[in-house]
Amino acid sequence: MTRVLGAAQAVAYEPVIGLEVHVELATESKMFCGCRNRFGAEPNTLVCPVCLGLPGSLPVVNRRAVELVCKTGLALGCSIAHVSKFDRKNYFYPDMPKNYQISQYDMPLATGGAVTLPSGKRIRLTRIHLEEDTGKNIHGGGAMAAASATLVDYNRAGVPLMEIVSQPDLTSPDEAGEYLAALKAVLSYLGVSDVKMHEGSLRCDANVSLRPVGTQDVGTKIEIKNMNSFRSVVRALQYEIQRQTDVLRAGERVVQETRTWDEERGLTYATRSKEQAHDYRYFPDPDLVPLHLDDEIVAAWRAELPELPLAKRDRFLAAYGLSRYEADLLTGERTTAEFFEAVVAHCGEPKAAANWLLGDVRRALDKHGLTLDATRMRPEHLATLICQVRDGVVSGRAAKEVCEILVRDGRHPAEVVAERNLAQVSDRVAIEALVGEVIAANPESVAAYRTGKAKAFEFLVGQAMKASRGRANVELVRTALRARLG
Ligand SMILES: [Zn+2]
Repeated sequence: MTRVLGAAQAVAYEPVIGLEVHVELATESKMFCGCRNRFGAEPNTLVCPVCLGLPGSLPVVNRRAVELVCKTGLALGCSIAHVSKFDRKNYFYPDMPKNYQISQYDMPLATGGAVTLPSGKRIRLTRIHLEEDTGKNIHGGGAMAAASATLVDYNRAGVPLMEIVSQPDLTSPDEAGEYLAALKAVLSYLGVSDVKMHEGSLRCDANVSLRPVGTQDVGTKIEIKNMNSFRSVVRALQYEIQRQTDVLRAGERVVQETRTWDEERGLTYATRSKEQAHDYRYFPDPDLVPLHLDDEIVAAWRAELPELPLAKRDRFLAAYGLSRYEADLLTGERTTAEFFEAVVAHCGEPKAAANWLLGDVRRALDKHGLTLDATRMRPEHLATLICQVRDGVVSGRAAKEVCEILVRDGRHPAEVVAERNLAQVSDRVAIEALVGEVIAANPESVAAYRTGKAKAFEFLVGQAMKASRGRANVELVRTALRARLG
């Protein structure tokens, strides 16, 4: 017995991970009724007899939602079904007003396809289907009820929800994080969702099992729920892989179950075992006819697809001489990529545009709680600032100050430079006067420089720049200093 345990301890395991991603679609109205699809409204104000499941109401398919799912499928290389259908998934929870959810069981809109990671590895997809979201339980009562009460908000009930199911091709928690980032980028490029994980418009469940390294065994699959950020997906998987490794090395069996991730405690705990698993009793929804899509409409949707993140990254690498790192960051979000190209179109300086966008602009956005979508800075303003630095109108240091004002207030750089008196001083007489003052005020540094201390020279340059509030042309300062110090 001891020997068997010993052998078990020596086995190395590898994880097998698959992800199910739910995406709320950015449609105007809900999936089967005319209620508005909007986050953050007063509870139960966006409801009607259809999404409340009142007797006698009939659902009507939202065409736009079908289009968004199919475009996602086309972008990810899936086959789009000519015929698909909607089914009822029966289960009984208070957040489900009809006591069933309209989903797609055996004839989803899209099958096959893959998400390509930045490394080039392809994570295959099983399917993409369309369903409706549930309402939301609000525990803890709030102002309207006792602390022990649970309230239900049906605003979300019936919102179009796309489910993207991957094959278990992921082999590490970090790879799962890369998959989510790559998928999110594609979804944001397509504009099918606002992909805000913190508002629940992108949600992820993971399943993970372990197998001895090098085998094709199928281990016992554990499903993990309740992860609210990419980081918590990675952490939950790390925790779960360690937990299952410990179970197997102790010579025990992993029990098939659903586990919930506890963000605060950093662990998963069992919530549902196989014996309690749902029997959803799927059957075709008798109120909805099967969905027929002909080749023309699919071809028209395909023609409308934008350039996708990886294609854009490769084009940026070839066209703009950027590093791989810069190209990855610039193409991670469509807004950033488009802003970058608009700046380049105005100033023809791709390297500088990348530096500004990934450096000072990003810092200023963070500082003022803004995003590129929300800032009033226009690409041509940043382009003008880049030209001003290139042409010596403002110093690099003063430009940083201007940049923050552009991001915050959306003003024209020329106006800010004039108002703050930030124009670069390149006038020879003025620079020599400035250098003269700095030399007079810092005799120790001058002496140190003359005994061969190179750092003292940089100190004097710094003093001159400081005295000019960053406005002096630094190259002219260096030249003047060198001439004066001999
Ligand atoms: Zn409704």
